[in-house]
Parts: sequence; C-alpha cells; structure tokens
Amino acid sequence: MEGRWAHHGGHRVGPGPVQVLHLSGMTGEDYVARKAWRQASLKSCPLHGQGACGLSRHGSYPRVKPPGIRVARYYCPREGITISLLPDFLASRMSGELDDVERVVCGAEGMRSVEAAANELRPDDIGLPGAVRWLRRRLSPVRAALLILVSLMPDLLGREPRLSSLRERLRTEHVLLRLRGLCPERLEGLPAPLGLAPRRRSPPDSHRMRGQTTAPEPRRLTPAAAEERPAGET
Ligand SMILES: [Zn+2]
Repeated sequence: MEGRWAHHGGHRVGPGPVQVLHLSGMTGEDYVARKAWRQASLKSCPLHGQGACGLSRHGSYPRVKPPGIRVARYYCPREGITISLLPDFLASRMSGELDDVERVVCGAEGMRSVEAAANELRPDDIGLPGAVRWLRRRLSPVRAALLILVSLMPDLLGREPRLSSLRERLRTEHVLLRLRGLCPERLEGLPAPLGLAPRRRSPPDSHRMRGQTTAPEPRRLTPAAAEERPAGET
C-alpha cells in the first residue's frame, strides 16, 4: 500500500521537522492493527522533488496514542532534516487523534467561558490553570485554522468558523479529518493540530527560562502534563 500523499509545495516553511500528511483513509485502530507505517512510503522529497538529495527511509517513531502506533520517517541529507509521514487521523504536534481534539473544541463551543469548559472537559487533578492551558492549546489554533478555511471556502463551509456549525453543514462528526482531505494543499500554512505548520515557542516557556529562579512549577512535572508533549513527538 502506498496511500495518497498530500501535495506539498516543495519549500520549507520554517524550523523543526517537516511533516507530510498520509491520507490513509484508516482509523487509528486499523493503522495500528495493520502496522501501516511499515508500508507508508514517500516517492520523492517534499523539499527537493525528484532531485538527487539522497532521501532515505529513517525508521519510525512511536506516538503515545493510539497505543502501539508508530509514524514512518524519512531523512533528507541535503537539509539534514527528518520528514514524518503523519497519518491523517493523528493530531499534528500534539498527542492523540484529531477526533480527540474535535471532541474537546466542540464541547467547549457550547460553554460560557474557557474556565468553565476546562473544568468540565478536564476533570482530572491537573488543576484549573493547567486545564485552561490544555484547552487553549486546542481551542486557539483550531479556531484560527477554521477562520482561515471558512474565509477561503465559504461556498462549501459556510461563514461560521465553529465546529458545531461545520458538523451540521458537512454532516459528519469528523470535521477536522474531513477538512484535511478537502484541502491538503493548505495544511502546511495552517496551525497544528489540524495543519502542519511548525510549532512556535509559546511566551510562557520563554518567560520561565528567563525569569524563574525559584522552584519549578510542580504541575508541569505531573504525568498528565508531561504526556502532552512527549519528547520527540511531532
Ligand atoms: Zn531532500
């Protein structure tokens, strides 16, 4: 199985590992059961096309969810970078599946405040500030991506950049997955977890690096918080 690959413009969009979308048409469960990353292949380098840059297979790496999944990876020696073949159902640069993100964002749309939504959607012991950060990491980029897509395709998507409206309009509960399939050529310009744009450093991290000399914030050391950004996950 080779699968279909999203069009890629052939230029690098920023720092960090490059991701190319694998339009697998599978669920996460199927992908794991079939070990589909083994067959996933890249015909040419997304940065150099068919040019002789020496593109080669570079194994695979695990993601936390769904359990057992791995992502195929290539290496471009001319740029010295790895290229991940991200299956379409996985969130980009964030743990879990796109459907998980959709459930959270959709759930938050009907609530009166981000704090109320965070409290409801993240009832474990992460604490409210952590839950709010967790929710905002999903809400903000998904809203930004929907706003862009709605303005680009109003005939198809309508004018309301909300998942609840898009679910009705597209008649699916897998809107984010459907959007990836509808406009694969746009993904590298859209923010993760829907799009494949490189992650930007968040201001709180840089503040912490510069200013914080007292004890580190304990919440960041809990397993729940650490799970959000496992090392090497893209
Ligand atoms: Zn290359």
